[in-house]
Order: sequence, then C-alpha cells, then structure tokens
Amino acid sequence: MSPSAGRRFRAYTAKHLDELTGRAGLDAHERLAVRAVATVLPFRVNSYVVDELIDWSAAPDDPIYRLTFPQPDMLPHADVARIADLLRADAPRKEVNQAANEVRARLNPHPAGQMALNIPKFGDDEPLSGVQHKYPETVLFFPKQGQTCHAYCTYCFRWAQFVGEPDLKMATDDIGALVGYLRRHPEVTSVLLTGGDPMIMGEGVLSRYVEPLLEVETLESIRVGTKALAYWPQRFVTDPDADETLRLFERVVASGKNLAFMAHFSHPNEMAPPLVQEAVRRIRGTGAVIRTQAPLIRTINDDSAVWETMWRAHVRHGMVPYYMFVERDTGPQDYFAVPLARAYEIFRGAYKNVSGLARTVRGPSMSATPGKVCVDGIAEVAGEKVFVLRLIQARDPDLVGRPFFAKYSESAAWLFDLEPALGATRFPYEAAPPDDPAELVGEA
Ligand SMILES: *Cc1c(COP(=O)(O)O)cnc(C)c1O
Repeated sequence: MSPSAGRRFRAYTAKHLDELTGRAGLDAHERLAVRAVATVLPFRVNSYVVDELIDWSAAPDDPIYRLTFPQPDMLPHADVARIADLLRADAPRKEVNQAANEVRARLNPHPAGQMALNIPKFGDDEPLSGVQHKYPETVLFFPKQGQTCHAYCTYCFRWAQFVGEPDLKMATDDIGALVGYLRRHPEVTSVLLTGGDPMIMGEGVLSRYVEPLLEVETLESIRVGTKALAYWPQRFVTDPDADETLRLFERVVASGKNLAFMAHFSHPNEMAPPLVQEAVRRIRGTGAVIRTQAPLIRTINDDSAVWETMWRAHVRHGMVPYYMFVERDTGPQDYFAVPLARAYEIFRGAYKNVSGLARTVRGPSMSATPGKVCVDGIAEVAGEKVFVLRLIQARDPDLVGRPFFAKYSESAAWLFDLEPALGATRFPYEAAPPDDPAELVGEA
C-alpha cells in the first residue's frame, strides 16, 4: 500500500490482486488468470472503491467489481494461459514482461487516430505536444501530472498510457504554450483538461494550469474530464486541499467562464455513498456545472434500467446528463462492446422513461476520427432497414446535424463496421474519389 501524506489515499495494485480476488470468491485457477491479465492491462483500485463501492457479497458479478477488476476471460485464452504458466513457474519478471508486451502489441492502443491528431489541423502552427485541437472550437489539454487516475476502469480506451510505454504517452507541463496557441486561435472557446484524471493533481499543481487560462479573454469554458467523483470523492470534501480546490473553482467562475465538470459515472451504485453526494453539493456550490457521461459497457451497464436509475440520480443531485458513449475501438473492445442496434435500444429504453431534465443526454455516440456519430434510430426507408445517423460533433462543422444512413446490422459495433445505405457509396465525412460521378452530380 502506498499512503499519501494527510489524505489517507491507499492504492491497491497488481500485487494485492490475489488477496482481493480471493475475497471475491475466485478459485486459485481464476485468481492466477486474473493476475495474468493484469500483467497486460493496468490495474489499480483504492480503499474507497474497495470499502465503499464494491458489494463484495455480490462479487465477482458486482458491477463496480467488474468495472475495476480484470476479468479472467478479457484476453484471448491462449495468451492468458501462457502468461499464467509463467507466473505459476515463478518465471523471471523479464520473461513475464516480454510475454505481456507481445499480447499488448496485438491490442489496438490508439484511440481512433489519436497520435495523428496530435497536430493542430486548424492553423499553420507547429504541433504542440500534449495538445489536441479536436474541433474548431475545442482543444484538449493533457497536463503532465494528470496522467493517472484514482482507480482504473477495465474498459479504459486510454489504457496504453497507464502501462508505461513512453511512446504512447502524450502530455505536457507547458501551459504557456497553450495560452500562446489560444491567443493565436481566438476561435477556440473551450479547453478540456483531460488525461488520466486531472483531479489526481493537488490544488497547487492544478492551479498552475488553470490560472493562466483565466487571462484568455476568448475562452468561454474550461472543462475537467474526471472520474474523481466516483472513485475518490474525498478530493472535494476531506482531502487537505479540498477547500483550496473549491476556492480555485470559484475563481474560474468569478473570471466569467463556465467551469464544467465532465464527470464520468458508469453505474448508479457510484452515487450511493453520502460522501459523493456531499462532493457534488460542494462542487455545485462553487458555481461549477457538473455534466455526466459514460460509455455503454457489456456486463457492467448494458441495461436500460441501469441508465434510467443513473440519470434520475444525477438529475436529483443537480447534475446534467450529457453523453452515452459507445465503447471505443481500443484495448479489449471485443470483450466490452455492445452492438449499435442493442446500444440504441438500451438508450431509448431509458430515455423514454425520464423527465425532460434528463433528456439533455445524447447517444449512443461514437467518438471517432471524423467526429461524434450518434445513432438516432433504426428505420425502414424505401424498403431498406437502416441506421439513422447524425454527426453531433465534427472536425468539419458543416457536417454537423445532417442525417445520414447506414445499412442495418445486428452485429455492427463501431463506425468501421457500417456500410452506406440507400445507394450511397460513401459516408458524408469520407472524401469523394476525384472522379466520383456522384460528386459531379452533386456539384451540378
Ligand atoms: C466529445 C468530445 C469532445 C467534446 O465535444 P463536445 O461535443 O463539445 O462535448 C472533445 N474531444 C473528444 C475526443 C470528444 O470525444
């Protein structure tokens, strides 16, 4: 255990796995398989997740247990068996790491085009490391000290960042460079601090990133993408720098900018402890707005009732439901993916039962290279069964809000599984071949 002065934060890592999975009732064979998976994919929980969130009487089926603990069948059986054999034989660490690296190399580490997008595309500027200019109005910033989380989600699409492969990491401590970039790009109105989890940073470090942004007149909002409310609400209530952090939030609001907490909540059980409710109350008390989002994950929250209960709890506590995401095409996606057709039914099953106050939520949405593609419906058009799709966010803003269609498929789980429908040969965000007759017609 690694105590951190004053705040009683205790992290549990792979070396505690055997004991914890034993508590979940796994037999020796399963515990070894879980340890094998954890040599490939990152594992980290903490005392709050273990003591307050997981229902151990329901483990290993408990959703929060499944949210945070590697599953023995998350990776190909042969890979798990090979590494399990090495662990059983007490093979040298180097040998185990090498086997793990080989398995990792076969998993897609890059969130759709992430590394390529590490170049501002909307100006003539030099590429900035740790900055992604995603959409004309939105820039993502990866603070160097914010590249971990209070606990890890098994389905994390940025998993590669947590396993120490340096070329997969991208982060910076150069806030001055970002401020310069924002001054050259007044069209950017929103900066999103992300990671990892920026709230892993103490107030002193966090304020060194946030304060300079308050001087940028053209910036309208600062967002913080965080799972801290679910995994370590102490950050806003009892940690030694909790009060100072709230004062920082108040300064952002006083500067005339919107401070948006993009809170990652995966399951209604995360809202149960009184401590998280108190954290929400305190953050809202600073004038910050809390918006909630999560991916739809097989075996964790793939049920309309779960989302309905979660959105209701969020509205009750004054938070604003924002996105339901489709699990991205990285890491163990096959294990967690929910087909788009089913994702749409789960979304609709929850959406139809909640008050308009919760219908601020949009989804199911795929955050992909061209933008965010939302599955708006399943329909029959001219005798053809289709998905009705819409870009709710796009690198080319002209594409936003125009409906388009894909052939219906029961099994398609991501954008690249889809084919254009109703005679179209490409999707609106795909470039036309230079001599495409359809394009000539379009221009006539
Ligand atoms: C959703 C998202 C954003 C922010 O888009 P909004 O629609 O403005 O919330 C930025 N970057 C990525 C990668 C996203 O998925």
